[in-house]
Amino acid sequence: RDLVSPDAEGDERAIEAALRPKRLSEFIGQTRVREQLSLVLESALRRGRPPDHVLMSGSPGLGKTTLAMIIATELGVPLRLTSGPALERAGDLAAILSTLTEGEVLLIDEIHRMSRPAEEMLYLAMEDFRVDVVVGKGPGATAIPLEVAPFTLVGATTRAGLLPAPLRDRFGFVAHMDFYDPAELEQVLHRSARLLGVKLPDDAAHEIARRSRGTPRIANRLLRRVRDFAEVRAGGTITKEIASAALNLYEVDAEGLDRLDRAVLEALLVKFGGGPVGLSTLAVAVGEEPETVEVVAEPFLVRQGLLVRTPRGRVATAAAWAHMGLTPPPDALG
Ligand code: ATP
Repeated sequence: RDLVSPDAEGDERAIEAALRPKRLSEFIGQTRVREQLSLVLESALRRGRPPDHVLMSGSPGLGKTTLAMIIATELGVPLRLTSGPALERAGDLAAILSTLTEGEVLLIDEIHRMSRPAEEMLYLAMEDFRVDVVVGKGPGATAIPLEVAPFTLVGATTRAGLLPAPLRDRFGFVAHMDFYDPAELEQVLHRSARLLGVKLPDDAAHEIARRSRGTPRIANRLLRRVRDFAEVRAGGTITKEIASAALNLYEVDAEGLDRLDRAVLEALLVKFGGGPVGLSTLAVAVGEEPETVEVVAEPFLVRQGLLVRTPRGRVATAAAWAHMGLTPPPDALG
């Protein structure tokens, strides 16, 4: 990323958009979520009514935005996109809600970061399809009720735990998106390779999938890096060895840990003797925001059995010491 110009970055985003599956049937993995969602959508279509509001939670890059787009496509309605941080004042939300058309899907990304007043307005909109817009200030302020066209809210969050219960309870369907297993990521990679017109042998796909942190967005990104590497160094032919060499160059290790993952582990092991250490102390040690460490690095480290969250703080497992090639001090794993 350090080496790409803003233009190249825009390009990357365009490619990412082009690789998005458009229909539920093209969406790979997340079998349970897909089945549940397909039922919700089908029954809504039969009744001719917008489906219940949908909440999607999961780590970045697992396909929440993709799934929201698919929901709109399957229902044959437009999709409106906004995000929690953009809804600072209730008025910001009112402006969007009042212009929704009947049945439209509204995606609020990072819904846990919405302001309190916007959140309260959303409660009413979700339940009764109306909002109260307050006009004026002080004793003269009046609330003007405003009708909202029936819509479907899709909330996306990396931190479902931060959602206040009254908001969470207003979603009829909660989809928990989990990391993908390597076989599913191989399918994602083969599909993307086909769309990009790249020849990808099975063993190379296997190698990239294994090292993609269980995340389709990362799989797609690594595929493009491997393609670049193959073009420059190997006349365009991708092999397992080329894939492996490219991934080493981009500092993705054999278990798919990237630079941040390894920085977190290394700080935990070397600076704090394996823990326990608090999240904010750990974040300072790697020079990142606590939220970045908690949302981006930790879920995967936990899933790989390298780190555990305890009430006393973060603790490294024996596997973490082994993975980093370090010997734990005698008292580290008590
Ligand atoms: P964020 O919350 O960070 O925006 P996200 O969870 O919304 O991430 P998406 O933007 O939907 O993630 O997906 C990232 C990329 O991964 C997309 O380009 C899409 O092509 C690909 N992708 C995600 N899920 C799947 C899937 N199930 N099958 C195929 N490709 C997928």
